[in-house]
Amino acid sequence: MKRTGILFFPAFDWSLGDSHPEREERLLYTQEQLFEEGILDLPQIKQFSPRVATMKDVLRTQALFPNPGAHTESLDPHLISAGSSLLLGEAQVNGEIDNGFVMARPPGHHSGATVWGNRGFCSLNNEAILVNYLRARFGKKRIAIVDTDVHHGDGTQDIFYHDPNVLFISLHQDGRTLYPGSGFVNEKGGPNAWDQTLNIPLPPGTGDEGYHYILENWVLPRLQAFAPEIIINSAGQDNHFTDPLASMNLTARGYGRITELLQPDLAVLEGGYSIEGALPYVNLAILLALAGEDYHHVREPQKLKRTTLTLAALKPYIQDLQKQQQTVKQSFTIQNKPYFPKGNWISIPHSVYYDTEGFQETRHDYVRECSNCAGTVYIESRRYTEKSILVRIPFEACPICEQAGYDLWDHLQKPNEGFANGMLQNQLHDKQYLWNRKEGLMEF
Ligand SMILES: [Zn+2]
Ligand SMILES: [Zn+2]
Repeated sequence: MKRTGILFFPAFDWSLGDSHPEREERLLYTQEQLFEEGILDLPQIKQFSPRVATMKDVLRTQALFPNPGAHTESLDPHLISAGSSLLLGEAQVNGEIDNGFVMARPPGHHSGATVWGNRGFCSLNNEAILVNYLRARFGKKRIAIVDTDVHHGDGTQDIFYHDPNVLFISLHQDGRTLYPGSGFVNEKGGPNAWDQTLNIPLPPGTGDEGYHYILENWVLPRLQAFAPEIIINSAGQDNHFTDPLASMNLTARGYGRITELLQPDLAVLEGGYSIEGALPYVNLAILLALAGEDYHHVREPQKLKRTTLTLAALKPYIQDLQKQQQTVKQSFTIQNKPYFPKGNWISIPHSVYYDTEGFQETRHDYVRECSNCAGTVYIESRRYTEKSILVRIPFEACPICEQAGYDLWDHLQKPNEGFANGMLQNQLHDKQYLWNRKEGLMEF
């Protein structure tokens, strides 16, 4: 038996449209189901009420461009969703609960290091904001995120791509067949965090057996080797065989087993759009598994009709994928701009499509190569003609990278450099600064 915290935030007043798959009914049926099953009467279940995240909590992890003010109207439900993760995370770290399940929406895992708007239904990254909160406030050092949503957790990957202290593992339907089109085995992390990103793209039709095989033979050994203090599960339910957006074949019990195998300290709801046919049962199975109760009786009303890949067919595919992943070698390009502080700055081009609003963000990411810390990150980001800058001094930055961050930041504010606004994310000292040519400096 485990003391399990749960938190519901259905965000009644937030939707992307009445017929949109990401809508409030996503959690209403779950709430009813858990109530009917008497889950809330179990002695080990403790229910929590949502909390609002502060702007400082967000800016520690994500830069809102061109400035946070441009987002305030639409951010409220996202801040509550993020705040709810912080609340349960805190309860877990304080020992009030053994583990927890945040059933809040909107989801977050497509939202990255720089945010110009909503994409893939996400504006703020709930799990990433939580991870950095636990590091800043509770001194946690090593955290793993395992993303079991059917879509690649591209936003979370983006945020931690240069961070050797956060292991990010994403299992998802192959990006050649599903949004957002990324998450391949060669995406293994930046030069200072090589191999701390693990992508496992799976063929459509993967079912319980295949999924569990991959967890036992690939994901769990990797987690064990990393030895995280905390494991967070981005728990997307859209691998279910009734999900209208994807083509995987997991069952509710299959999800229960995933939870039992992973033993996450915290599960945070991501996607899942089979609102009546899957979500109430998947959420129930996950919750039972977290609470150390039997979940094998949980059955969704529909029967699995789609063809599922057999383990015999899947095994060679996975072994091949594993081999490919292991043989990918680092190949990075050094590109030092005249005003860059000394060192090797690795350039990684990046572009992000915002499907909700239909525009493209073009980015140039640079990270200072460093064997003593995660390295200072410098990102130039453009949306149409607007350009914003992010300088990030990482947690536990070495003195040279810290100074490099300040030097870059000073340079960007010089009158003749042509930059209009930017952000300094000083994770080392937990300070965030926004700068705008007209309004000057603001500290968080
Ligand atoms: Zn999803
Ligand atoms: Zn360094």
